[in-house]
Amino acid sequence: MDLYEYQARDLFESMGVPVLKGAVATTPEEAANAAASMGGRVVVKAQVKVGGRGKAGGVKLAENADEAREKAAAILGMDIKGHTVHKVMIAQAAPIESEYYLAILLDRANRSFLVMASVSGGMDIEQVAHETPEKLAKVNIDPYKGLSLEEAKKIVVKGGFPSDVADDVARVLVTLWDVFKKSDATLVEVNPLVKTKDGRIIALDGKVTLDDNAGFRHPDHESLIDTAATDPLEALAKEKDLNYVKLDGEVGIIGNGAGLVMSTLDVVAYAGEKFGGVKPANFLDIGGGASAQVMADGLSIILGDPAVKSVFVNVFGGITACDAVANGIVQALEILGGKATKPIVVRLDGNNVAEGRRILNEAAHPLVQQLETMDGAAAKAAELAAK
Ligand code: GDP
Ligand code: MN
Repeated sequence: MDLYEYQARDLFESMGVPVLKGAVATTPEEAANAAASMGGRVVVKAQVKVGGRGKAGGVKLAENADEAREKAAAILGMDIKGHTVHKVMIAQAAPIESEYYLAILLDRANRSFLVMASVSGGMDIEQVAHETPEKLAKVNIDPYKGLSLEEAKKIVVKGGFPSDVADDVARVLVTLWDVFKKSDATLVEVNPLVKTKDGRIIALDGKVTLDDNAGFRHPDHESLIDTAATDPLEALAKEKDLNYVKLDGEVGIIGNGAGLVMSTLDVVAYAGEKFGGVKPANFLDIGGGASAQVMADGLSIILGDPAVKSVFVNVFGGITACDAVANGIVQALEILGGKATKPIVVRLDGNNVAEGRRILNEAAHPLVQQLETMDGAAAKAAELAAK
């Protein structure tokens, strides 16, 4: 789960990362009140889970509470890269002298953690990495040893920080490591970390991604979920322990195994080009044991999506053989009864495929049709969705 900036700020504050005062507001009036209680200059910042808010006009300085109200009114409702702004953060403004970059992330490729530090912050880090790679330190951290202050100091020097701030920045880096570890994050990024004109080091922006797989260790993280922004179908799927992601197409997808489902999405998108650009409506991996109940849960979520016009069930029988999956589909349709209303294209292959196909043929459900190949089934599902 990605956190909003204001949530990251709160987390930072609670763990000793230096931040400035901040408060979240959903109306211009709340924004003005927050600014008034802080006094002085503030920054009004769009709270959307996407970067580049500054460039998009979603970060504005305000001299006083009245201006904060105006700026909040302008930013609330704004669209930033497809995300509508429903909340703003009012933050104390900092007199910035320099902008730096710090990040800690899970480095999957190296099965390790990676610290990145650069004296050139505030802008796209990809650009720094590309144009002045010597100013971006990238150092892997041994998960068993963690990050010591000594090591942090070396990283900071490598990132080009001048000696007058190096120690302070290294201390912030160690504290960020603490945040990363204790909150089971996969990303903690501060851009910019600033040096103020009076020499303080402060995290002005925070991007934090928490590892949902570690959620069971953090009951308090539940309260960070933005239920208003969660897709209702995704929330329902989560309740049923299904691996579901809503997409914006018309062909509902069910498959077993993440890899197969991913390639199914590709094949359907490709086939859909011939039918007016029909696209997959979701990702849904029902995993290895495709029982009738799991199939019914999956189908009911997909059929509950008003955008779905057809469904493609793509199963490769392995340990759970095709006959079990076919029985699962038949029983799922019995469970759903009149709630099943859209055409369902099934492609079975793999273990015990002949018996699986026979079971579906025998059931002869009016909504179900079988195709033997993945490409053929994808084309059929796309064609039905385009009708
Ligand atoms: P992002 O564009 O989504 O990463 O949003 P940031 O929070 O990083 O803000 C973008 C830019 O706005 C920063 O790089 C700063 O230059 C500027 N900014 C943010 N907060 C302040 C502040 O308190 N004072 C001043 N003067 N500028 C700020
Ligand atoms: Mn930023």
